[in-house]
Amino acid sequence: MFMTKMLSMKVPFLDLRVPQEERDEILEAVNKVLQHGRLILGPEVSQIEQAVAEYCNRKYAVGMNSGTDALFLALKALNIGADDEVITTCLSWIATTNSIAMTGATPVFTDISDDLNIDVKQIEKLITPKTKAIVPVHYTGKICNMDELEKIAKKHNLIIIEDAAQAFGAHYHNKKAGSFGDIACFSMNPMKIFAACGEAGMVLTDSLEIYEKLQALRYNGTINKEQCIATSLNGRLDTLQGAILQVRLPKVESHIEKRRFVANYYSTHLHEYVEVPQESPSCRDIYYTYTIRTPRRDELMAFLGENGIETKIQYKQLMCHQEVYRKYLRLPVPNGERLTKEVLCLPMHEKLTIEELEHVVACFKEFFQ
Ligand SMILES: *Cc1c(COP(=O)(O)O)cnc(C)c1O
Repeated sequence: MFMTKMLSMKVPFLDLRVPQEERDEILEAVNKVLQHGRLILGPEVSQIEQAVAEYCNRKYAVGMNSGTDALFLALKALNIGADDEVITTCLSWIATTNSIAMTGATPVFTDISDDLNIDVKQIEKLITPKTKAIVPVHYTGKICNMDELEKIAKKHNLIIIEDAAQAFGAHYHNKKAGSFGDIACFSMNPMKIFAACGEAGMVLTDSLEIYEKLQALRYNGTINKEQCIATSLNGRLDTLQGAILQVRLPKVESHIEKRRFVANYYSTHLHEYVEVPQESPSCRDIYYTYTIRTPRRDELMAFLGENGIETKIQYKQLMCHQEVYRKYLRLPVPNGERLTKEVLCLPMHEKLTIEELEHVVACFKEFFQ
């Protein structure tokens, strides 16, 4: 009996179905928007912008229709373009590099540290007279070494643009993700911890000038719905997604707590078999992914799959090894090359049950014994 149950147990990597109670709240919010009919940049968008700015201790937030647009338009708002170089990590979702390259700037890649974040020690070696900005990515929901990054940025007069897409709600020495540097970007796509039911993103800043520029940039570079002051695209946020984000913002803290519980459970039971994520005492990681490392990654992934446990490799390929970006590689990235062969992301979401977690741990035990 016991064995049959274990064998048939499926542990999904993510579960994006919306629970009944939340569905009712969302439908009510959607209904309100459909009644007033201001379907793009309606009142719910300004309200959620304000709420997110407040949550992150920022003055201004600008809703965008994706995290990729948020990054691209943030770079544009800082006048980054052809002839500029932007330093970023070699390991992230490809949107980070695409948004830099789409401005015409040259992406310059650093290696990563063992925590999978940007290796700050390499940054100064890559700075040239053309370097204009650094885009650190808070990978897996862990904030980068911002003390060091801010020191380097200050010394060389560089802009910091946070790619905080994976880190909504993460803390670093009492500061929140999104509150560092000149400008910060979030994605609220359905996979992210603070998620819409479709594409959504946001840019945060304390500068009124940048805020106003961003508002123009997200609407074809226009002000007063008439005059075009910059070349741009349409990056506006739907009111429906804004309304859904309003329903979900109050739930973020409890989701983060649940994820941290799952992470702690995994770490307690798995550290004897694999490298588990390490957390600094004055930080709060939010575990967008729970990423372990083992040289037996491929075998382990296959074994877990046979036992109904869905895992993912994020990512198999470094951004600097993608065909379109290979030409930009300046320094070797040995850590990135090694770690992408070892990383594996385990199921991580709010709906995981203790039985599912026990099943994951039991399978690790069986595999490593
Ligand atoms: C999700 C993500 C993005 C892009 O966000 P979209 O909303 O999917 O466009 C950018 N950077 C990182 C690190 C991400 O995880």
